[in-house]
Amino acid sequence: MLLLSRMGCPAAQALFEDYAQAAMEHFEATDTLSNLVGQHGLFEEQKEDVERAHEKCSAARLALEQHWAQHSCHISEELKLQSGS
Ligand SMILES: [Zn+2]
Repeated sequence: MLLLSRMGCPAAQALFEDYAQAAMEHFEATDTLSNLVGQHGLFEEQKEDVERAHEKCSAARLALEQHWAQHSCHISEELKLQSGS
């Protein structure tokens, strides 16, 4: 899944790992949410967690993209970020 070995820039790699971690947390929060459908109070609480995770994921992705834009160290064509943040 991750092609970190192709990234020569340690800063970009660290940012990418942050993004990957945030994306995983968002995925897990969304997965948990899907199991709480019908449980109204718990569902609303988990929905807030999903939104927080989504914001964290978006911020991490933006930081990575800004680094790439400024540093021009994005050499991996195979590395595609999830679309549709
Ligand atoms: Zn870099």
